[in-house]
Amino acid sequence: MISYQNRQAVLATKHHKEKAISGPLRDAVGLSVIVPPDLDTDLLGTFTGEVEREGLPSEVVVRKARFGMAEARLPLGIASEGSFRPHPELAFETGNHELMAFVDDEAGTVVVEDLFTLDTNFANIKVSRADDLASFLVRVGFPAHALIVVPNDRIRVNHDERVRLVLDDVPDQQLFKGIADRAALTLAVQQCAALSGDGIAHVETDMRAHLNPTRMRTIAALAVQLGRRLATLCPSCNAPGWGRVAAKWESAEGAGLVVVSETMGCASCTNQQVVTRQPAMVRGATRVNG
Ligand SMILES: [Zn+2]
Repeated sequence: MISYQNRQAVLATKHHKEKAISGPLRDAVGLSVIVPPDLDTDLLGTFTGEVEREGLPSEVVVRKARFGMAEARLPLGIASEGSFRPHPELAFETGNHELMAFVDDEAGTVVVEDLFTLDTNFANIKVSRADDLASFLVRVGFPAHALIVVPNDRIRVNHDERVRLVLDDVPDQQLFKGIADRAALTLAVQQCAALSGDGIAHVETDMRAHLNPTRMRTIAALAVQLGRRLATLCPSCNAPGWGRVAAKWESAEGAGLVVVSETMGCASCTNQQVVTRQPAMVRGATRVNG
């Protein structure tokens, strides 16, 4: 029988996500997490969008886990990936969709858990001077949460402004990341406004986990969820990783989208069970890849 007690898994991160992930996985299944030094996860695409990631988010997160496994030469790997987008039902709310993959190459299994939460400070604003940022800074929790500043004319916007912005070929000296003090922010806004053809600086939240305590908290919650999944054995073959693999959603009066049925599945064998849910029992449940 597979056990993760006293085993090591490599976590592909250079944003200190081990702080959020190690504890829950150790508590749940006795797995310890190591982070290889000098891991360049930016090769897989960077968080600020300078390099675009290819493929579905669930493929990207598994690829990232495998990248760490190859670097560390370990058969067990973990990675997480976040994206920020409008809530599927609440048009003016932006949420954080977070994915976490666990790959076991010895058992030949892959488990991907996800979580959608409205608990995020993801936001942006366009200003010509730093003095105009006062209420924005309070709202996004600066300086505990860091910011990114770029010249506004360097921003290419996705089809929806609230979806993550893609920076278009921004030279290093025009991209200010990880800003977490007032003086640096003022200087970055001045420089970016001066560099932009329209005299405006684009300021947005830096969502990298080590610079965003709110996102780090979400990653910790997802690690608890992954730990619970790895601690749950398949009722048929006893392999770890029994959990929800699909869900059916319907609109419910006054409650937005609710789960009406869930398909539970095994990471190892083909065993699946469909469980129907009463909407009242699943309010606040997380959403499977959509
Ligand atoms: Zn099974």
